[in-house]
Amino acid sequence: MIVLSQAYFRAFVIGLIAALAEFFGSYISGSISLLGDAFHIGFDTVGYLIGWFSIALMLRVPGRRFQALMGIFLVLASANILYQAVERFQTGGAVITNTLWFFVIGIFGLAANAVTLLILRVPHNHGHLQHEHEEHGAHAHSHDAILSANILHTVSDFACSVLVVLTALSHLVFPETRFLALVDPAVSLVIASFLLIQAYRLLTT
Ligand SMILES: [Zn+2]
Repeated sequence: MIVLSQAYFRAFVIGLIAALAEFFGSYISGSISLLGDAFHIGFDTVGYLIGWFSIALMLRVPGRRFQALMGIFLVLASANILYQAVERFQTGGAVITNTLWFFVIGIFGLAANAVTLLILRVPHNHGHLQHEHEEHGAHAHSHDAILSANILHTVSDFACSVLVVLTALSHLVFPETRFLALVDPAVSLVIASFLLIQAYRLLTT
């Protein structure tokens, strides 16, 4: 049990740093794909914090109301990205600045995803999570939905971060190519749809 709580705490710290770095990166570069990834990592970080709270402090995993609140937050986050993406498609895209920082922070976000996956995988293999589910009983479902413990989610984490890195790389390598201004909002729409899938899971389970 100690191992799993430590794992959640470490994942929380790494995720928090990565999310803050990405929010900062999106602010200085003007990238909305990076903003979407920041929302995504930030959301996962709340899940790690809940995982840590529930195990280390023996608190109950928050119930349906909190789950619905998180779902609504994700809907608002994706609506915000959708709105900005549509605006950019209409105006032919925005100029992305500080592309090197955009790239470096994107790589950092991708690395943070890989590290948290490794950290959280270890205790899962030893069956601690299953044991914990038995203890929590009825709360197991909301636990799963908020902690996002499923393959699709892990794949979407990586897909989003890889797309962000590729977007940054394209701007870095071809700074003068005008149509690339549309790649960033296009990628942000992919990320927004992953956020919506996650929101759907939270609001329906
Ligand atoms: Zn995620």
